[in-house]
Parts: sequence; C-alpha cells; structure tokens
Amino acid sequence: MSIDARKIRLIMQLRRSGVTDTKVLGVIERIPREMFVPPSFHDQAWEDTALPIDLGQTISQPLIVALMTQALDVHDRHKVLEIGTGSGYQAAVLSRLCRRVYTVERHRPLLHEAEHRFRTLKLHNITSRHGDGTRGWPEQAPFERIMVTAAGGPEPPKDLTDQLSIGGVMVIPLGGGYGEQRVVRIRRTETGLHREELWPVRFVPLLSDQDVEERAHPS
Ligand code: SAH
Repeated sequence: MSIDARKIRLIMQLRRSGVTDTKVLGVIERIPREMFVPPSFHDQAWEDTALPIDLGQTISQPLIVALMTQALDVHDRHKVLEIGTGSGYQAAVLSRLCRRVYTVERHRPLLHEAEHRFRTLKLHNITSRHGDGTRGWPEQAPFERIMVTAAGGPEPPKDLTDQLSIGGVMVIPLGGGYGEQRVVRIRRTETGLHREELWPVRFVPLLSDQDVEERAHPS
C-alpha cells in the first residue's frame, strides 16, 4: 500500500474514533510521521499505534496525539508548552496550530534528534531545551496551553499549573493508582483549577529530577 493510501486510511480511522477537528486532522495528514520513528518501523509509521523510540521511550499513538491536541483547543495566537519532547512529533503537530511551542525533554539524545527533525522540516516556531519539565519554563510563562506527554502522579505538578495563564488549559495524563492513567483537562480560571477527566491511556512516566534521584538512592 502506498504512503498516501496509508495516510488516508489513518485519517479515516481517526475520524471514526471521534477526531472531528478538521485542522487537527489536516496537520496530522501533513506532518511526515515516518521521519519521527526509527528506520526499522518506517512501514508502520501510518498505523494507529504507538512505536518505540530510543531510551525506552515511545512516540504516542496517532489517535492519542489527535485527541489530546483536539482537547487542548489550540489557537494560532497561543504560546504552548509541551513537556516530554520525545521524538518531537507532538511538538511538530502543535507547531502548525499555534504561534510558538516551547518543549522540554529530559533525555539529551532524544532532544538532539528531535531538534534535527524540526530543522529539516523548517518548523522554526519550536524552541526546545533539555531539563526537568516538571519545573515548566518559568522565563517564558505564562502559557495559554500546556500539554504533558508523560504520565504524572495523581496531581499535576504545581509549577506547571502556576505557569498556566488565567483562562489557560492543560492536558496531562495523571495516574489514579494501580498503574491506571487517565488524560485530564485542567482549566485555570479566576476562581481556581477546574478538572475534567477524559479517557484512559498508557504513557511512560513523567520523572522529575527528584524522582530520578530517589530511584538511584532509595532511603
Ligand atoms: N511527545 C512525544 C512522546 C514522548 S514519550 C512524542 O511525540 O514523541 C514521553 C517523553 O517524556 C519521553 O521522551 C521522556 O524522556 C520525557 N520525560 C519524562 N519525564 C520528563 C520530565 N520530567 N521532563 C522532561 N521530559 C520528560
């Protein structure tokens, strides 16, 4: 099957699964996902499945990317923060829908590969950096939108909700115990944070520098 035929099949599958935002579907059709997966998985790049990238991490399933992007409700004037650059695919999708994307990754080699892809695809409105994304990006805050693509604990990191603008929206997978995760949408208003549970998912863990330290030296 040609790449074009695979693309059309995937877009139809996303539509059937509840992705109604035509802008999101258009961007997914145009970003070459095969560039974001390892060469040995090229033939599966347009399947609706998560795929392994280096360092035990994963590029998310297209349906989850599409639904989370749709849930974030991004506009072209927005400044968006993404935590967990990974392959860079989600950042690439967001970059076509907003003014600027700031993305943070804790694994340097993944970040460098993603940055190379952004340059090749001329995605010049993505700014990336290495570090612990649970701290956010204070120098650039506030953000109208924040997307976290690794699973946090039961509560969103406070630094991230603090860096959300009033009226801002964050989409983040949160754990509910027993390894169960759910995508949660958090809206910050004048009166506080309003939380809405969306669908169950499975993401790699969001690891802060402190978590990594504690795993290395359990007390
Ligand atoms: N958005 C990615 C999916 C990445 S998987 C894509 O489209 O390919 C989640 C990523 O989050 C992994 O690369 C992992 O290294 C990263 N991550 C986990 N905890 C993090 C943290 N505290 N700060 C920054 N990145 C983190």
